[in-house]
Amino acid sequence: MKFGIDMGHNCPPDTGATGIKQEDVLTKAVGTKLIQKLQAAGHTAIDCTPSSASSVTDSLRQRTNKANANNVNIFVSIHFNKFTGTANGTEVYAISNVSQGIAQSVLKEIVKLGFHSRGVKNTGFFVLKNTQMPAILIECCFCDAKVDMDRFDVEKMAEAIKDGLIGESDRVEVKHDKKYVLEITTKTLLKPSTEQGSDLPKESLFEIDPKDYPVLDVRFEENHYWVKWPDKSKGNRDEHFVFAGHSKVLEKD
Ligand SMILES: [Zn+2]
Repeated sequence: MKFGIDMGHNCPPDTGATGIKQEDVLTKAVGTKLIQKLQAAGHTAIDCTPSSASSVTDSLRQRTNKANANNVNIFVSIHFNKFTGTANGTEVYAISNVSQGIAQSVLKEIVKLGFHSRGVKNTGFFVLKNTQMPAILIECCFCDAKVDMDRFDVEKMAEAIKDGLIGESDRVEVKHDKKYVLEITTKTLLKPSTEQGSDLPKESLFEIDPKDYPVLDVRFEENHYWVKWPDKSKGNRDEHFVFAGHSKVLEKD
């Protein structure tokens, strides 16, 4: 997988909030660690943060341009929130269904660290609207809330985001009321996104034989099923897209 990592602000006049700590310092610390962790897990991670910009819009546009030009699979923008010192917790923004699924998974991991969940929200921020791939914007927590800043740890935050993105900790225990079976009717490709297989890097594709596969979760997305596998036997990811023309999904109680 190829990730585009945007360390919010850090590019005057695009500067972040000042609370107990400065947002720019926090996003850079988390983003830098996240890139290292994704790379250590065998993924490609590109820093989409620009070094100079003529305006805030120019700063934002450079970030989305870099993600689009590099054809990343997932774009992740890292921010910290600020209110009046009275709000705390984590929220993740995403527009499309696929993005919201990723946002949910990242939120879940951060909340495990003890942060209050403020939910997944759908707001058309510039970096979400102008990226051509699934994109999320994480407000890790509030930089002006004592409870959040006391709890915040760069290492743990980056680890939680990484786990949310690549599904590291989900494979152990997953309980589900429903079971799904994915019926594959002809040799077919598993892909990291709904793009044409020919437009995606070869190493991200995985071919599977016609068979019934038990899966943990499944969602229909623009002619494709998004499928969550019980393990990483299908390459190093536990989620894939599969063309719906070659497959059928059965629900079993
Ligand atoms: Zn911000």
